[in-house]
Amino acid sequence: MQVSIIGAGLAGCEAAYQIANQGIKVKLYEMKPKKYSPAHTSSDFAEIVCSNSFKSNLLTNACGLLKEELRRLGSLLIEVADTTCVPAGQALAVDRNEFSKKVTAKIKEHPNIEIVNEEVTQIDNEGITIIATGPLTSDALATQIAKLTGMKKLYFYDAAAPIIEKQSIDFNIAFYGNRYEQEKKKDETVEDWQLRLKDQEPSYINLPMSEQEYEEFWKELVEAEVVTLHEFEKREIFEGCMPIEIMAGRGVDTLRFGPLKPVGFDDPRTARRPYAVVQLRQDDAEANLYNMVGFQTNLKYGEQKRVFSKIPGLANAEFIKYGVMHRNTYINGSKLLNSSYQLKANPQIYFAGQISGVEGYVESIASGMVAALNVINQIKNKEKIEFPETTMIGALAKYISTPNEKFQPMNANYGILPPLEGKRIRDKKERYKQLANRSLQYFKN
Ligand SMILES: Cc1cc2nc3c(=O)[nH]c(=O)nc-3n(C[C@H](O)[C@H](O)[C@H](O)COP(=O)(O)OP(=O)(O)OC[C@H]3O[C@@H](n4cnc5c(N)ncnc54)[C@H](O)[C@@H]3O)c2cc1C
Repeated sequence: MQVSIIGAGLAGCEAAYQIANQGIKVKLYEMKPKKYSPAHTSSDFAEIVCSNSFKSNLLTNACGLLKEELRRLGSLLIEVADTTCVPAGQALAVDRNEFSKKVTAKIKEHPNIEIVNEEVTQIDNEGITIIATGPLTSDALATQIAKLTGMKKLYFYDAAAPIIEKQSIDFNIAFYGNRYEQEKKKDETVEDWQLRLKDQEPSYINLPMSEQEYEEFWKELVEAEVVTLHEFEKREIFEGCMPIEIMAGRGVDTLRFGPLKPVGFDDPRTARRPYAVVQLRQDDAEANLYNMVGFQTNLKYGEQKRVFSKIPGLANAEFIKYGVMHRNTYINGSKLLNSSYQLKANPQIYFAGQISGVEGYVESIASGMVAALNVINQIKNKEKIEFPETTMIGALAKYISTPNEKFQPMNANYGILPPLEGKRIRDKKERYKQLANRSLQYFKN
């Protein structure tokens, strides 16, 4: 059976290596050096386009656990990252040129991998195909993928807002409630109102602000440091969506008439309308994660933590994911894929990497691994490989393939693992350690 992999990035290289190692012939298509995306510049494979960090190596960090799982599964890319690392404390940061060179050499010298240097513009029906063309998939192929998947729009400007772990929110300040439903009715007594609130099943968590809190926050926000954008991003970003700091820059009250408007809410402690309200919207089926509504941002990560922690109720917030603004191409995995990263409507086609709906370097490698192991089993007429959801690699595969109306690309985080059995462990490090131990038990077998 012919296996074609489109895109020799992080996911494509991992997948090609794993499949080829099983004695299966692979054709790996890469458009570089004939054609480059706006962010790629090197002719080598597995190019790291931005930060050289693969994040923490600690098992108390979700990405640290994912890397350890990949090591145990024999990941080529994590092995190369380990051998090309540069000092970075507890993080795994790589010498990006060495990393790409070594991966390229391993792929090129493999007897079962044939490299085809061309831009793929059509997806043919021969054999099995893994599409791993990344967030900057070329336009012609993106059009084909849109046709194949029935998606009207495949380009998104990744203007994701930060995502917060619910258990780190201060519920002495925060309150649940949907706009207008939460508000105290004129003819209601405070007691009746509070009883009614108890029976509601709202999707939002609200963070009320006083005038002084709002103005202090606004000042910090407009003065915070932003990320310098690539030229191509500058041209395209601001048309469709507005970073919160840009909106705030238009005037002190703009946010209060936009995403922070307090209309339809009363603070349950005072029964009065707050001066402004930040809303958090449920982001995962288990309601562990909440995104900050309207907070798409281009602030530097450190600034996001500093400024957004000033919002009442978020002083100790755990940011599972920071807001980002760059072009992203991804399919709605939650509608289209199963947990093997295989297209439900066509079992000969898989997606891997950022385009499948995972986010991040290591996550892209992980999806390449899962897709590859399943392609191998499909060819060998063996059962589909499904990692348990107690593992980070399995939880990610479950996330991208579980129906979700608000589907957004996801990186590894402890919020997507099912909780430990028994009483909740309050100490976060200890809890994460135990979650990591539970996962790694699986990889011992
Ligand atoms: C600007 C930017 C910055 C990012 N920064 C970070 C970061 O700091 N940390 C992080 O964890 N993640 C970051 N990401 C997200 C993501 O982790 C990386 O993009 C990652 O490289 C994705 O891996 P991938 O294998 O899916 O795609 P890529 O590594 O991008 O590989 C895709 C490959 O497919 C090729 N290709 C595209 N179209 C075609 C075609 N039609 N035919 C043939 N080949 C094609 C490309 O040339 C490329 O080599 C960033 C993304 C972007 C866009």
